[in-house]
Amino acid sequence: MLETRVLVVGGSTVGLATAALLAHHGLRPLVIERRAGLSAHPRAMGTAMRTMEVLRELGAVEDLGSNPRTGKITVHTLADPESAAAPKALPATTSTSPWTALTPTRPAPSAQDRIDAALHKAATRLGTEFRFGTELKSLAQDESGVTVTVDGPAGGYQIRAEHVVGADGVRSQVREQLGVRTTGPGPIGTENTSVLFRADLTELSQGNDFLLCEVRNPEAPGMLISMDAVDRWVFHTGVATSAGRTPEELVRSALGATDLPIEVLSTMSWQVNGRLAETFRVGRVFLAGDSAHAVPPLGATGMNSGVADAYNLAWKLAFVHSGRASEKLLDSYEQERLPAARLNLAQALLRMDNAHLHWDSSEQAARERAEIGLLAPFVMSLADRYSSSAVIDPEPELPSTQDALAVLDGAPGSRVPHEWVSGQDLSTVDIAGTDLALLTGVDGQAWQRPAAAQGLRVHALPNSVDWLADRGAVLIRPDSFIAWRAEDLGADPAGVLRAALDRVLTPSGAGVPGGARP
Ligand SMILES: Cc1cc2nc3c(=O)[nH]c(=O)nc-3n(C[C@H](O)[C@H](O)[C@H](O)COP(=O)(O)OP(=O)(O)OC[C@H]3O[C@@H](n4cnc5c(N)ncnc54)[C@H](O)[C@@H]3O)c2cc1C
Repeated sequence: MLETRVLVVGGSTVGLATAALLAHHGLRPLVIERRAGLSAHPRAMGTAMRTMEVLRELGAVEDLGSNPRTGKITVHTLADPESAAAPKALPATTSTSPWTALTPTRPAPSAQDRIDAALHKAATRLGTEFRFGTELKSLAQDESGVTVTVDGPAGGYQIRAEHVVGADGVRSQVREQLGVRTTGPGPIGTENTSVLFRADLTELSQGNDFLLCEVRNPEAPGMLISMDAVDRWVFHTGVATSAGRTPEELVRSALGATDLPIEVLSTMSWQVNGRLAETFRVGRVFLAGDSAHAVPPLGATGMNSGVADAYNLAWKLAFVHSGRASEKLLDSYEQERLPAARLNLAQALLRMDNAHLHWDSSEQAARERAEIGLLAPFVMSLADRYSSSAVIDPEPELPSTQDALAVLDGAPGSRVPHEWVSGQDLSTVDIAGTDLALLTGVDGQAWQRPAAAQGLRVHALPNSVDWLADRGAVLIRPDSFIAWRAEDLGADPAGVLRAALDRVLTPSGAGVPGGARP
């Protein structure tokens, strides 16, 4: 029987991110994917800053290529003169302000197939083994591991793993096998069509270098999206091909051009879905990405929240497998990611019902969003605030629904605010890497020795900030979340630090003898 420590089921974005991050942490996983290769048909395009941070950590940003396009236009058809209007800035994914105040990354709207290729390259470089054309058929677990029966190109066989991550999409076979039920509205509306095509739209666009083009033609209303700023496009429309129209006809209805050369590359049918798994973990098996939660696409949080699952889970599995943490640390995955997914689903449903507020960046729209509790797009991408055994004294309340800078307040359970620690090279978001790290205030030199005694790297903020006392410190996890915050050094910094590490990594542990509980 083939043996592996961690088996990832599903080789799309979330499975690839999980594998790459596990490998980054030194745990070489095995990935099985039903398809013969990576998916060539991009669905997602909106790449959130947390996803960019994962790609940055993996050294994969350069592999995304660049799509310098920004903005959205609204037209009847692309050939319609109305399309000459200047593109409007998009609310979140493409504008640099306040993006660069929130994260060390740059906005890079990226087609999902490019993200997948970049993650696959990173995962392979770091030692992940991939088995394409291999489908999970069944799964059974006992106290020491999980036995998975698969069907591969050469027939059926079994894989034995210590842990399994089910990143196998909204119709997850892993979830089925575990008997995990889902809540939420389920499939919403009728079948949609997504057409990936190649065409030179330069002339038709009349100088409008848009990223998104909302098409209002009632024959095929939908969204035309530039995949590479050159000639690769996706058209998502609410019209089903089963209604008798060919993909090419749908694209032509959007373009308003009957004789332009178009090469249809692939077509996909899809349905809006709102689902949340009742649990994200059964024993040694975890659910991540769409297998755990599926959301309507407006707001671009489906893939991004799945990548956040991967970021959350990978370091925990790695720490448990290397003996640096107890198995109990894994409980915090569901404690943290399930509430995050619940919020994400509620927000996506609210956004779908109030789509005009999503696209509108006026102050009036911000007021209306605040009134109905709809998070501004930038806030949404930083809204995860964890309350779990891996966070000490968490503050789960979101400080603002509209102001993303206010959301990053240095509270335990939130993503550490971004500040450059050295030049424009090392950010507070980067400093943990594959370990925990201590970040001190500008006058926190006295933390150096106690931190070193715990084997922790220490960095000091170059300036005073309003979210951390000058003599205070925060313990940062490998996923850049704050696990613990100290206002001052206190009488026994070494003991307090040791106890904090103990509480985070061995939550039910007896504690280190002599270590004060923080
Ligand atoms: C039109 C549209 C636009 C979207 N836009 C955005 C956006 O802009 N931003 C965003 O964040 N999200 C967006 N999303 C959502 C995003 O595409 C999904 O959330 C994301 O693809 C989920 O990734 P995943 O890896 O969890 O699942 P999937 O991408 O569904 O991948 C699951 C993988 O598992 C494999 N698999 C399934 N069963 C098995 C099995 N038994 N054995 C082995 N392999 C198996 C499948 O072949 C597949 O490769 C959009 C979705 C749609 C439909």
